[in-house]
Amino acid sequence: MAIDIAINREVCMGSGNCSFWAPATFDLDDDGVAIVIDATGDPEDKVILAAQGCPTQAISVSLDGEKIV
Ligand code: SF4
Repeated sequence: MAIDIAINREVCMGSGNCSFWAPATFDLDDDGVAIVIDATGDPEDKVILAAQGCPTQAISVSLDGEKIV
C-alpha cells in the first residue's frame, strides 16, 4: 500500500507529538518544525495515530491516494 505523508510546515507548532508516536517517520528539523524522515519507517497505524494526534492538524496522510487524515 502506498503511503503519502504531507506536513504543512506553516501550521506545525513543533510540539513533537508526531515524532513521539512514529519516531522512525517524523523528526523535528533545526527550526523545530516537523519533517518526514522515512514515510515507511513505522507501521501505517502509528503514522495515522501521529497525524490524528497533531494538535494543529498539520499532518495529512493518504493511502493509495485516498485521504485518511
Ligand atoms: S504533531 Fe503536528 S504540530 Fe507537533 S511537531 Fe508534529 S506536525 Fe508539528
